[in-house]
Amino acid sequence: NLSSRFAPSPTGYLHLGNARTALFAWLAARGADAAFILRMEDTDTERSRADYAQAIMADLYWLGLDWDEGPDVGGAHGPYRQMERQGIYADLFARLLAQGDAYPCYCRREELEAERQRQRAAGQAPRYGGHCRHLSAEQRAAREAAGQVPTLRFRIPDAGVLRVPDLVWGEREYALTEFGDFVIRRADGSPAFFFANAVDDALMGVGLVLRGEDHLSNTPRQILILRALQLAVPQYGHLPLILGDDGQPLSKRNGAGSLRELREKGFLPEAVCNYLARLGHYYAESALMDMVALARGFATSRISRAPARFDAAQLEHWQQQALQSLPAERLWTWLAPALRTSVPEDRRMAFVQAVRGNVLRPQEGEHWAAVCFGHFHGDAEARSALEETPPEFWAAAAQTLQTVAGDYGSWVKTLQAASGRKGKALFLPLRAALTGRVHGPELAALLPLMGMERALARLAAASP
Ligand code: GLU
Repeated sequence: NLSSRFAPSPTGYLHLGNARTALFAWLAARGADAAFILRMEDTDTERSRADYAQAIMADLYWLGLDWDEGPDVGGAHGPYRQMERQGIYADLFARLLAQGDAYPCYCRREELEAERQRQRAAGQAPRYGGHCRHLSAEQRAAREAAGQVPTLRFRIPDAGVLRVPDLVWGEREYALTEFGDFVIRRADGSPAFFFANAVDDALMGVGLVLRGEDHLSNTPRQILILRALQLAVPQYGHLPLILGDDGQPLSKRNGAGSLRELREKGFLPEAVCNYLARLGHYYAESALMDMVALARGFATSRISRAPARFDAAQLEHWQQQALQSLPAERLWTWLAPALRTSVPEDRRMAFVQAVRGNVLRPQEGEHWAAVCFGHFHGDAEARSALEETPPEFWAAAAQTLQTVAGDYGSWVKTLQAASGRKGKALFLPLRAALTGRVHGPELAALLPLMGMERALARLAAASP
């Protein structure tokens, strides 16, 4: 069973790390023709927000992910928001209590803190000393009568070894004596994170859990809970952290921020997916792949254990690749909102084809739209190229352009003969005069779009 899931906590927008986890989990499921589930882990009621949950779903859809079961589409294992699953957890708590695998704990916060401090001072790892483990029925009743509200603790088996396999890290062994009995239900009745998280995976039929390395240490306790409840234990794989470009943990300053920010900057989902899919996962293919190919080539055995490092240049590389293969219609939709110059409807496709290799952001399209259909200001490099070119050249350029009736190929040949210039000496001033830049899309593609009249006006204006 390789059905897999993504289980975000709706406490903020998806950052690159979450997005990679979601993508890997989706690729694993789709590559195995297995189901993919989205579950909202909203039990932290102070920090969870419904608008974040909406935003997360919108961002995942934008990325190109979809799910067979989830809060918005329903499914056979719902509900898919943990706050709506309280009744399910209550039944499981009751079962653990009845089996003796859990017990109420009345220890106060201050007592627990004091215990931890004593343990630290003695050089021991802090863990619950088991004070409430052996309370008699009378002792419990007395505390209840005094109005004390207990948490619920899981009772760790007294001895033994726990083997925890991991698809990325291999198997680890833990002595059960390493663990203290841990809280699975808080005093307010809400489930502890790793309780709800583990039982939901089992109840939702999840066979494969891919998640961040920060959850590695939760896994042994989750396996103990599932075993006690006789629920199926999924395969776990923990993804190495993503570091910022400075080698520090990823944050707003050294990485790309949220998925939302990338999208607002104009990054294409194809670019982001191709970038993220290779962030800690190896593909033999070095060209842009679509989602089907990415899923087919995905294998948990190709996940690296080394921390991945955010690399803005790589992301730009995939953006460039994605722009190269984007259908013209979509390229136009991507570009259009950033354009102020109006592009005639019947020229749109020719325009996007002309500029596709020279834009990485939609905003960069505006200059080329102005070149073709409006007015631009030349930059400093272009102005100095014009200053170095004598008036005779501009006269010859204008005259030959008219002679060949605007045909680009004939124009450069004729002008080359007339001016005695070739190569850079010929193209640089032409490019500077016609486009206001010394680099850019093919002049052959731009010339027909700007038309004879604009071209002649610019050649005339170029002459000092
Ligand atoms: N809600 C947890 C998180 O966002 C999920 C961890 C997991 O995938 O198991 O970190």
